Amino acid sequence: MGGCFSQQWFSSLQGLRELFFPRRCIVCGRFLTADEADVCTACREDLPMTYQWDIVQNAAFERLARRFDVEAAATLFFFGAESDYRKIIYGIKYGGRRELARRMGFELGTRLAGNRDFRRCQAVIPVPLHPLRRWTRGYNQAEEIACGLAAALGVPPETALLRRSRYTKTQTRLHGAAKTKNVQGAFRVDPGRAAALQAAGVRHVLLIDDVLTSGSTLAACAAPLTKAGFRVACATLAFAGT
Ligand SMILES: [Zn+2]
Repeated sequence: MGGCFSQQWFSSLQGLRELFFPRRCIVCGRFLTADEADVCTACREDLPMTYQWDIVQNAAFERLARRFDVEAAATLFFFGAESDYRKIIYGIKYGGRRELARRMGFELGTRLAGNRDFRRCQAVIPVPLHPLRRWTRGYNQAEEIACGLAAALGVPPETALLRRSRYTKTQTRLHGAAKTKNVQGAFRVDPGRAAALQAAGVRHVLLIDDVLTSGSTLAACAAPLTKAGFRVACATLAFAGT
C-alpha cells in the first residue's frame, strides 16, 4: 500500500517537473515523452549508423591504419557538418549529458560485442583528459562512453593505465599537422599498471573517444600502449569528415 502511494506521489512530482521544465530531444528539439531520454524515438530510429562493426576494412580502420598498427576500429554514427546529430556530441562534451554518453556507449558496445575483433578486447580505455580540464568540465566524456561500452562488452573500464603527461590545447580549432603535433607525446603508460595487467594476461585493449576526426589523438594514445606491448583497437561514437 505504502509503496503504491509513494510511487503515485513520485510520478505526480515527475509530472509537475515535466510541466514546468519540459524536456526536449537534443537532436530535433521536439518535446520528449516520459519514457524517452535525451533523444526522441524518431531521431533514434533515424540515427545515421555507420555499420562499421560489420566491415573489417572500414573507413575508420583505414583512417587510423595510416597512422599506427590498429587492430580493429569502428564508430557508431556519422557526424556530418550540417547534421543535427552533432548535437549529441556537443551535449556529451560540453552540456553535462553524462547519462547520454553512457547510453550511447552501451549502444555501440552491444554492436561491437557481435564482432570477434572487439570481443577479444580485455580492457576498455577512455582517452584521458588532463586533470585540469577534467576538473573544469566535471567529468571526462570518453570515460562515460567507455563505462557504458564496457558494460555491454562485459569487460572492465581501465583508467589507471593511460595518463595524460602534459596539458594540450583543445583539438577542435587546430588543423592538419598542428593537430598531430599538439598531442604527440602527450600520453604515457603507467609502468606498474601495465605490468599488473600483463601479468593478468591482458594484451588486447580497446581505446575509446567521443569523435574520430583526423585520428591524431587516438594515434598519440596508441603509441605508448603499443610500445608497452599492447595490441590496440579503437572505437568512437561519431565518425567525422576530415
Ligand atoms: Zn528528435
